[in-house]
Amino acid sequence: MAGPQADDVREPLLIIGAAGRMGRTLVRASLESGDLRLGAAVDRVGSPYIGRDACELADAVRGGVPVSDDLHKALGHCKVAVDFSHADSVAAHATACAAAGVPLLVGTTGVDPEAEESFAAAARSIPLLVAANTSIGVNLLIELVRQSAAALKAGWDIEIFEAHHRHKRDAPSGTALALGRAAAEGRQMSLDQVARFARQGKDELRRSGEIGFAVQRGGSIVGEHQVAFCGESEVLTLAHSATDRMVFARGALHAAAWLRGRPPGRYHMRDVVA
Ligand code: NAD
Repeated sequence: MAGPQADDVREPLLIIGAAGRMGRTLVRASLESGDLRLGAAVDRVGSPYIGRDACELADAVRGGVPVSDDLHKALGHCKVAVDFSHADSVAAHATACAAAGVPLLVGTTGVDPEAEESFAAAARSIPLLVAANTSIGVNLLIELVRQSAAALKAGWDIEIFEAHHRHKRDAPSGTALALGRAAAEGRQMSLDQVARFARQGKDELRRSGEIGFAVQRGGSIVGEHQVAFCGESEVLTLAHSATDRMVFARGALHAAAWLRGRPPGRYHMRDVVA
């Protein structure tokens, strides 16, 4: 049961975007968490799920926590928050969490660079972690890619492929971009200098040093990422497959539990998995 019980010592968690695919998975993950319990569930104003029991929505037994559209009130009931909602709202959510003194993990992707200002301001008063991918395996993959790119320089072309379900909004995925950034950093470059996001036409020769991205969308694919280092007569491929959203949800709750009690500042998944 997610509802508060006299003997439940787990701390209350707020899920922002609770009625979405990840939100519902996070609700289920909270039921098996040893550190956190569902304290409040928020979705957007106008969502048809406002007022519904968040656990029932997530195909679990009734938990007594209705989905609400009142973020400020919900923050009063929680010790830590996770956001898997919409890129356009994330900056405002970070500001609200900072005002309430509630640590925040942002899992939402596709966020505009302008949100960085709000994140920086929020991180002055709360611990804040922004993670394009909260799976432990992907975060290890990011470090392996960084090391491989540093080791394999001249003559090794880096190409990144990702595949996701048909409902995903942003492309390439936040994880593919994080992999690209790690690869570029491994070569002391910035991704902006070397990224190639599209190829089409008669004069599309690969430029030396570029990092190419390819995107596939369809069906219910949870998340596939591959980074290929293509050398002369050999290819090294590092890859990760997620077969269930639960891997992101468990990683997110692990990171959210880790954030509690930390000093204000910016944290990364590599701090959590280190
Ligand atoms: P979804 O569309 O199924 O769910 C999003 C939910 O957020 C919806 O219920 C929507 O109504 C709600 N929402 C929108 N605006 C809101 C607001 N202002 N306040 C509160 N709720 C709001 O999407 P999804 O598949 O669950 O993915 C959500 C986000 O999480 C996406 O950006 C996705 O890329 C990202 N994601 C991240 C990871 C990770 O590991 N970090 C993993 C999977 C998905």
